[in-house]
Amino acid sequence: MLDGFGRKIDYLRISVTDRCNFRCHYCMPEDQSFLPRDELLDYTEIALIADRFIDHGIRRIRLTGGEPLARRDIDVLVQHLGDHVAAGRLDELTLTTNGSLLAQHADALAAANVRRINVSLDSLDEQRFAQITRGGKLAAVLNGIEAAKNAGIAIRINMVALKGINEVDILPIAEYCAVQGHDLGLIETMPLGDGVVGRSDQFVALQQFIAPLTERYSLRELDHRTAGPARYWQVEPLGLRLGLITPMSRNFCDDCNRLRLTTDGKIYMCLGSELHVDLRAAIRNNGTAGVDQLLQQALRLKPERHDFERQMDDSSLRLNRHMNATGG
Ligand code: SAM
Ligand code: SF4
Repeated sequence: MLDGFGRKIDYLRISVTDRCNFRCHYCMPEDQSFLPRDELLDYTEIALIADRFIDHGIRRIRLTGGEPLARRDIDVLVQHLGDHVAAGRLDELTLTTNGSLLAQHADALAAANVRRINVSLDSLDEQRFAQITRGGKLAAVLNGIEAAKNAGIAIRINMVALKGINEVDILPIAEYCAVQGHDLGLIETMPLGDGVVGRSDQFVALQQFIAPLTERYSLRELDHRTAGPARYWQVEPLGLRLGLITPMSRNFCDDCNRLRLTTDGKIYMCLGSELHVDLRAAIRNNGTAGVDQLLQQALRLKPERHDFERQMDDSSLRLNRHMNATGG
């Protein structure tokens, strides 16, 4: 699949639920409302769409949300998609999770050919973690990470850089990741959804956020790439692989390979754009026949690049879609 700018699209992110047991203040407001259940795609519908997209050239799938492990019987969908990995029809099935329910699911994920996951962790300080997530329990997340590691799954810890909030956590998290053998991914906060606290006050460019690391260690850029937008660096002598995801300070749209399926069956071609096609009615009325035509339309809708810089500065331009709805 090629979009209108000639970019090859082979990576699908599926948001399996917009619900979450956390309320991270950069992601959603405390009183966030969620979609009624009959508006969600059921697992049969998600599987049908994913299978059709695989026929069209999708090689990697990431499950996200909301909190993907909070959706009931998620292991059923994971197993279905994981069978495609076993059959060589998919190169990779991965997951982004807040880790709180990971201990219960780690073995099932590993059995379904999930080899690598991202776990969000913005602080190793119990109180700060609870503040950022509005009530999350750090110990449950650390247990979940350990269970996944014991199940043989490689882990990248994802940390959102928040000015004045978790700058003090960068060294402890980097050192924890190095000791545990996890990668660390740092993410610049993006201006998605209204009613979210902070935003421009909390934005800090990663170059600045990693100062405590660069003062103490040396960084060397690596060729390593995953399917996502991170650029990787080796931190020595710490022995850490560090991924930097810089939607704001170093645009990566030129080689964007992604499309996103939302919980309610919309395909968004860019996290930063409202342009989408709606697959839910198509699949409910015509099965996969309607999907092919809409997919071609979606490819033409993919914008050349996002506009987060202007949206960060001017709140009237911001999208009214929170990160949990489209999937991170
Ligand atoms: N609940 C799961 C989790 O937290 O990992 C998966 C969904 S979450 C929306 C996916 C990722 O998006 C997380 O790493 C989260 O930190 C990040 N995220 C959420 N809102 C963001 C924002 N406004 N800017 C940058 N990253 C954000
Ligand atoms: Fe939930 Fe993930 Fe959003 Fe935090 S970032 S509120 S864990 S969906």
